[in-house]
Amino acid sequence: MGKVKKIIKTIKIDVDKCNGCRACEVICSAFHATPKYSSNNPARSRIRLVREPLRDVFLPVYAGENTVSECMGRDKYIIDGKEYSECDFCRASCPSRDIFKEPDSGLPLKCDMCESDPPLAEPMCVQWCLNEALIYEEREEEVEEEVKLDEMEVGLEALAGKYGLQKVMDAVSRMSKKG
Ligand code: SF4
Ligand code: SF4
Repeated sequence: MGKVKKIIKTIKIDVDKCNGCRACEVICSAFHATPKYSSNNPARSRIRLVREPLRDVFLPVYAGENTVSECMGRDKYIIDGKEYSECDFCRASCPSRDIFKEPDSGLPLKCDMCESDPPLAEPMCVQWCLNEALIYEEREEEVEEEVKLDEMEVGLEALAGKYGLQKVMDAVSRMSKKG
């Protein structure tokens, strides 16, 4: 595989501007509902708030990659006098906690930057953040061509990690026989 030019999309988070309103969680879950906007449930959002109003802690975190095993990270960070745990900043859908998992199936959720056709000018959470705590940025980079997994493949990969590939294949085979 060779190098290709790619638009890298990022969202810069200005923690000082976030007031914990959770509009980003609501619109993300609504945008990804089937059919679109038919429901909203922050537990299905691909952005989640670490939210502790009494300590003035409001930290938006985007869902990243799935991991099958939890890490050993238990460090604490003090930033501007506020204490955060290492987990607070982590983007992984991980066995040690419930966030970034679809509540019914337990399958991992991952931010897809609101990919849609036609494309959005800005991701929905950025558009709905009236405090401008989420800032959308694009840049062009030369990167290695990658084989992109779609949502179904990410889900299958997670199931195979949890139950073993053979069990997943056996289940699919049984389902196909039922027609
Ligand atoms: S960019 Fe889109 S998919 Fe990602 S968290 Fe924001 S609304 Fe959700
Ligand atoms: S919409 Fe903006 S201000 Fe509201 S919780 Fe999300 S990041 Fe924070």
